[in-house]
Amino acid sequence: MKRVSVFGATGSIGQNTLDLIARNPEAYDVVALTGARNVAQLAADARKVNAQIAVTAEEALLPDLRAALEGSGIEAAAGSAALLEAADRPADWIMSAIVGAAGLAPGFRALRHGTTLALANKESLVTAGPLLLAEAKRHGATILPVDSEHSAVFQALVGEDIAAVERIIITASGGGLRDWPESALASATPEDAGAHPNWDMGHRITIDSASMFNKAMELIETKEFFGIAPEKIETVVHPQSLIHALVGYCDGALMAHLGPPDMRHAIGYALHYPDRAHLPVARLDLAQIATLEFHAPSDSRYPALRIAREVMAAGGAHGCVFNAAKEIALDGFLAGSVGFMDMSAVVAETLDAMSSRASLSNAPQTLEDVLNIDHMARETAQRIIEQRKAKAP
Ligand code: NDP
Ligand code: MG
Repeated sequence: MKRVSVFGATGSIGQNTLDLIARNPEAYDVVALTGARNVAQLAADARKVNAQIAVTAEEALLPDLRAALEGSGIEAAAGSAALLEAADRPADWIMSAIVGAAGLAPGFRALRHGTTLALANKESLVTAGPLLLAEAKRHGATILPVDSEHSAVFQALVGEDIAAVERIIITASGGGLRDWPESALASATPEDAGAHPNWDMGHRITIDSASMFNKAMELIETKEFFGIAPEKIETVVHPQSLIHALVGYCDGALMAHLGPPDMRHAIGYALHYPDRAHLPVARLDLAQIATLEFHAPSDSRYPALRIAREVMAAGGAHGCVFNAAKEIALDGFLAGSVGFMDMSAVVAETLDAMSSRASLSNAPQTLEDVLNIDHMARETAQRIIEQRKAKAP
């Protein structure tokens, strides 16, 4: 039996992961499930898959979790120390699907036990890619990509030499506002941006898809995970979301990965790696699909892509600042204090304000360094939002 833990079990990726696990209960011994606010779901799932322990990130919700697990024999715990302790529990495979930089520390901790970390939490690579990969190497741990584009690239690279790769193209759906005129984007609300045409995902990543901050994060994620030069990484808008990525080789061949927009494919690939197993995802009918479209993303419509290029060129700790500022700008957008197109301005201004710091030019050496820079960047972004508000007419 494979011992598995799911961090962020109550979220969109977590639920898809549990769906695959629950279809084949005799194959898995579930160690830990974690969540945050949705303790009812967490407890119900822990009972369903008979987990050893359920952990909520919210300390105040521990009594609720305990009550919901009463009589089950399943342990309950809460808080960030409990998340780390859950990551210390022996497991063969751990899904990292907490949203945001909060997912970094538990995933990082799990690596020291030489586990296989299925990484959906792209923020981990954007904020601390080199540190994370070095930690995995030090302990003989494996990191597998779960983001659909990166899983697609990973699959297109099997048996190939990375030195023969000329380009990596990750596709972008264009998100919920892709058909809006550019002039209308400034007035988009969280509700407008929170509906995705193809994928069913968590609320935050859905809005990041509309602003292309998600693709911007994925460009950086590609650079960090595959160790490829930024100028070899491209993105193209592909409204059907059926091709997830393409890898171009030095002989001109372009290997595309196609599949339905269902995260259970990428999750299942990581769960069964290096084998392939039957997965309950739809099969594509190409004759019925008939057309695949592509177009170049507009720079003025998606400033996040330009900022990501600058972050990749600057290297060091800029990815950490980028991610933290993006999280704060998104919080502001959700709270109504930052406009849709102003999110990129907040991120760019935060990077500008912090770029003179010497500590930013080198990649962080410890998790503590990362968390300090993350903290400073959040404060700076918050201050910039306040200043912009004070200046607004
Ligand atoms: P969701 O918002 O659906 O789920 C987030 C999960 O994290 C929930 O379990 C939530 O708990 C938990 N959580 C929230 N805040 C904290 C915190 N501070 N500490 C610990 N746990 C917390 O997100 P998604 O599933 O959409 O995304 C998860 C990750 O996967 C993200 O990094 C995202 O970018 C990435 N990803 C997602 C894809 C998708 O299709 N959804 C595709 C590719 C990557 P609760 O709900 O109980 O509050
Ligand atoms: Mg993706």
